[in-house]
Amino acid sequence: MPQSPVERRYTPLVILLLLAALVTVTAFWAMDRAGSAAARAAGASVAVEGGTEQHFHWKLVTTWPKNLPGLGTAPENFARRVTEMSGGRMTVHVYGAGEMVPPFEVFDAVRQGVADAGHGAAYYWKGKIPSAVYFTAVPFGMTAQEMNGWLHYGGGLELWREAYAPSNIIPFAGGSTGVQMAGWFRTEINSLEDLQGVKMRIPGLAGDVFAAAGGTPVRIPGGEIYTSLQTGVIDAAEWVGPYNDLALGLHEVAKYYYYPGWHEPGAMLEFIVNRDSYEALPADLRAIVAEATRAVNQDMLDEFTARNNQALKQLVEEHGVALRRFPDDVLKALYAGTRQAIAELTASDPMARKVEASYQRFFEAVRDYHHISEQAYINARDVVLEPDSP
Ligand code: CA
Repeated sequence: MPQSPVERRYTPLVILLLLAALVTVTAFWAMDRAGSAAARAAGASVAVEGGTEQHFHWKLVTTWPKNLPGLGTAPENFARRVTEMSGGRMTVHVYGAGEMVPPFEVFDAVRQGVADAGHGAAYYWKGKIPSAVYFTAVPFGMTAQEMNGWLHYGGGLELWREAYAPSNIIPFAGGSTGVQMAGWFRTEINSLEDLQGVKMRIPGLAGDVFAAAGGTPVRIPGGEIYTSLQTGVIDAAEWVGPYNDLALGLHEVAKYYYYPGWHEPGAMLEFIVNRDSYEALPADLRAIVAEATRAVNQDMLDEFTARNNQALKQLVEEHGVALRRFPDDVLKALYAGTRQAIAELTASDPMARKVEASYQRFFEAVRDYHHISEQAYINARDVVLEPDSP
């Protein structure tokens, strides 16, 4: 069909406009590809435009083997809650120990933004931040319930954030195991003499206490305890408690299982978040991250409370584990070592001094009340329900 004069005049213009549009679209596509690649290369969170909604994807590294019951399932639990609460606008991929970085490099990975978040325990970082030990456990210190009170209503979390602020990291309470077990020993411990020269996997302030009592503390991540005990690199190891220790199979490499967990009366774990990754989130997703950590924090304690007793029964009845209590003179020596370790820590580190003051103030106050509440009730319960127990 012949073209009209108007069509003849405008056809080149239309072709030109179409070409310009094609060039623009191609340029934007290339820029988008380059941007995503750069974000992936940097290892930081990736925000993807999906229609009008922005999606966020985080990488979370842990110090635990992937899906280890209790500890390793907590970050998976966090990831699931974040996805559900955000309606899929935010997802979190969990990397177990060694999958992206070695277990003891979790803190640096989050500090550098290689990962957006991490799950582990603050006392692993005591070489960098001495005051960090307070945010996991103090020997003969607060229980899980008391730690939660101090952190969330007693100023503890603010101090924790102050301690981590120079590392560009925001910490959140990340679950508690409750009172742990004193650990696995290949030989019986009947007196302080028996602890002399014992090489034990025991981190944090308790490691310094163990050294003061004559032992040799060794720093080993959870996933390597079994082999270290088996090959004789160490003579003893504390890990968590029956539920978690059974999962690692520690009863296969040491016979004596000691209590009580004098060294970790309420071991608090941590979620750590890179500040830039956190601040890049819109306000509702920041709230979701915070609330998911809070939910997982309580959930872990609930799970250990439900599972520890079953696991202990299994260890003793099915695997023939010898359950032993630390003698009083050993506990007293360890307490003396605790006072010494705290004195040395606070003398050398101003932040530890500040945290110690807050911790002790709260501990004394809560102990006064728990003496006539939690403790008095458990004692009273024993009087009527277990009158024959020692
Ligand atoms: Ca432990």
